[in-house]
Amino acid sequence: MRKRIVVGNWKMNMNNSAAHSLFQSLNNAEIVSSTKIIIAPPSVYLSGFSSNKSKNIYLAAQNCSDNENGAYTGEISASMLYSIGVGYSLVGHSERRQYQNESDLLLKQKINVLIENKVIPIFCCGENLDKRESGDFYKVIQSQLENSLFHLSNSEIKEVVIAYEPVWAIGTGVTASPGQAQEIHAFIRSLLVERYSLETAEEISILYGGSCNASNAKELFMNKDVDGGLIGGAALDVDSFSAIIKSF
Ligand code: PEP
Repeated sequence: MRKRIVVGNWKMNMNNSAAHSLFQSLNNAEIVSSTKIIIAPPSVYLSGFSSNKSKNIYLAAQNCSDNENGAYTGEISASMLYSIGVGYSLVGHSERRQYQNESDLLLKQKINVLIENKVIPIFCCGENLDKRESGDFYKVIQSQLENSLFHLSNSEIKEVVIAYEPVWAIGTGVTASPGQAQEIHAFIRSLLVERYSLETAEEISILYGGSCNASNAKELFMNKDVDGGLIGGAALDVDSFSAIIKSF
């Protein structure tokens, strides 16, 4: 059964007191929902949040190293994340693909190291505006999945969460229409059926990300193949994030 999931990606926002106060508000909000709530704060806050979180909130890193451990100054390993109770990590967010030049091959290595260390990857894929306008977006998404994810075994891929995030919708205020989101989610699921099986494809949650907010979440989440959202800007406010969680 596919899980409903809402992830809040805080990106590089908020100093210590603001971050703790938002996290405390989420902890106290007692959001009654069968939806899995995952928060991805800047990594400096993960350890503190991990020891103070309520049981219905899970934590994700925004990134992790592609190496196990060793002389990689500034990096954080998957085993470190696991050791402080962080169960998830974003992989391949478009901002990292763009600003850190993360390649499909590097992302494949990150996926492997996360799975080996029992941290669940939230794999982000999506096309930029040029590819949307030229109509080549199916090819882009297919190659991102094939190059970084489809080497996994049947049992490994079932652990992964996929997020479709059209780059032209991230942080722009332009959201994919419910029809556009459903079309790509169904396409991703069909690739999972082809590469694995219908049973496997039906166990993998596919989230939508890109200017999703309290006003449009419901019409996005009501689509058959949309299992939740990866939320950026709207995750920085407890009321809008709570409203999104309740939008199923
Ligand atoms: C994101 O950062 O993954 C994202 C979807 O951002 P926003 O919701 O701000 O578009």
